[in-house]
Amino acid sequence: MGNDAQTGQVELPERETMEFDVVIVGAGPAGLSAAIRLKQLAAGKGKEISVVVLEKGSEAGAHILSGAVIDPIGLDSVIPTWREDGAPVAQHVTEDRFLYLGPAGDIHIPHFLFPPLMSNKRNYIVSLGDVVRWLASKAEELGVEIYPGFPGAEILFDNHGNVTGVATGDLGVGRDGMPKGEFVRGMALNGKYTLFAEGARGSLTKKLIGLFDLAANAEPQKFGIGLKELWQVRPEKHQPGLVQHTMGWPLSDSTGGGSFMYHYGENLVSIGFVVHLNYQNPYLHPFKEFQRFKTHPAIAPYLEGGKRIGYGARALTEGGWQSIPKLTFPGGALLGCGAGFMNVPRIKGSHNAMLSGKLAAEAAFEAIEAGRAGDELTAYEEAVRTGPIAHDLKRVRNAKPILSRFGTALGTALSGMDMWLNTISTKLSPTLKHGKPDYAALKPASGFKPIDYPKPDGKLTFDIPSSLFLSGTNHEEDQPVHLVLANPAVPLRDNLAVYAEPAQRYCPAMVYEVIEEGGAPRFQINAQNCLHCKTCDIKDPAQNINWTVPEGGGGPNYSGM
Ligand SMILES: Cc1cc2nc3c(=O)[nH]c(=O)nc-3n(C[C@H](O)[C@H](O)[C@H](O)COP(=O)(O)OP(=O)(O)OC[C@H]3O[C@@H](n4cnc5c(N)ncnc54)[C@H](O)[C@@H]3O)c2cc1C
Ligand code: SF4
Repeated sequence: MGNDAQTGQVELPERETMEFDVVIVGAGPAGLSAAIRLKQLAAGKGKEISVVVLEKGSEAGAHILSGAVIDPIGLDSVIPTWREDGAPVAQHVTEDRFLYLGPAGDIHIPHFLFPPLMSNKRNYIVSLGDVVRWLASKAEELGVEIYPGFPGAEILFDNHGNVTGVATGDLGVGRDGMPKGEFVRGMALNGKYTLFAEGARGSLTKKLIGLFDLAANAEPQKFGIGLKELWQVRPEKHQPGLVQHTMGWPLSDSTGGGSFMYHYGENLVSIGFVVHLNYQNPYLHPFKEFQRFKTHPAIAPYLEGGKRIGYGARALTEGGWQSIPKLTFPGGALLGCGAGFMNVPRIKGSHNAMLSGKLAAEAAFEAIEAGRAGDELTAYEEAVRTGPIAHDLKRVRNAKPILSRFGTALGTALSGMDMWLNTISTKLSPTLKHGKPDYAALKPASGFKPIDYPKPDGKLTFDIPSSLFLSGTNHEEDQPVHLVLANPAVPLRDNLAVYAEPAQRYCPAMVYEVIEEGGAPRFQINAQNCLHCKTCDIKDPAQNINWTVPEGGGGPNYSGM
């Protein structure tokens, strides 16, 4: 390491380089399924294949936040023996309720109104984080190298612009961007193919979509923010296998979203709330809407007397079929929720994430077998667009645009009819467009009144600091702020002036604050609180916030989520 005499910039040492057949970014359901399938295929042919998986969390599962009711089609196709192999997937769904909430009451929507694809009969209630930990152990048994605490920070290219791998982040860089005493240069991991499985709004995925113009022929991606708490409830309140979803209160009819509540394990209840990020009112506070929702008479009795043991938040993709970008580029491919394979009306994405991992692995293995490297895995794109993922997503592709256009009450009825039509007819109804991206849906604060949310009672409803404590989130403080503002003037000059700076409210971790100092506002970023949900990167009306990976291992340390 030395100083360049002319520029004054620090010259960093060369990165050490490691060579693999396949490099995978992200140890979620998609990335781990790809890794497992590659090893299975190689073993089946008595061959070796080197596979590495990078994970930014301190361990596989540490950054996974999901519901989760899972469709076992994903597990069945990647590890068909999962039932005998000790997968933490035990609780069958026994009862499936759908409620429309008003301020004081609720209406049960009978299941026969929904097409069979919405049924949870064959599904299981799990902690997806635990399932991911188990998948990681299976991958390691097969010889996959998993590097937790090593974020993929930079995409590497050859001279022709083809992706050759990724570099992990440097360790020991101070807040001023200068190397500290304990500085360790990141590694360059080169692969014949690099698979990006970063989940919703992946930071490298976002770059790739821009660089290769992958979304040129797709509708804008749509998102929701999902907030979740894990509760240990009183035994008499626990109904193992109960799945309950709601729409309606406390959200207005024009604000999309809803809740989930899943009973499983030892008196455990996963309770969560999703707000669609195309909301218009800049005063909306998704975390406080979630807290208010828990006080509803159809919800509160389950939690009363219980103990909240977990909290977290994560964005989810909602654009569906019409928002899926081109999936391949020279040297790599997009997998899982990074590509947007979430089925929104089913609130399920983990099965498609696993299926996409399997399909990408099959295409990469076939290419490597044929002596290819660094080209496009077109067989993967073809398999996604004609196989089970397409079948799952095409039938429900109009649900989200219908809800956005007609509001929750009428939209639910109309989208139900559209899903029925697409189930019983051999011809699909025309595909509806989403229109504008979520950040462009926000309207000026002058058209709204601030919302008066009730104060938390510390029993059923809580504040953000006590919630963050349960997420275990932590970041080394002396490191560059990983929430990078393209223009530091925008939050106060534009966002505060026009939208009352909505980042203060949509961030579920109080990372963004506007503080009065000497009679003038100051914008503060408490980066150490960040939950890696990516909402700011999506919803900032000026698209001025770029979420980048912090130093490895930073972020939430979820358990049982
Ligand atoms: C609130 C909520 C409820 C949900 N409920 C359900 C449900 O009930 N059923 C269901 O099937 N699905 C559900 N989903 C969706 C489901 O969680 C996702 O479809 C699934 O997790 C996607 O898997 P993935 O592997 O694509 O991404 P993820 O699960 O997000 O995994 C991505 C992994 O990559 C890591 N990563 C990201 N970027 C980098 C980087 N640059 N370097 C290194 N590592 C990186 C992350 O830390 C993470 O571990 C829900 C989602 C949410 C948010
Ligand atoms: S800073 Fe952004 S990514 Fe981090 S918790 Fe807040 S909204 Fe989510």
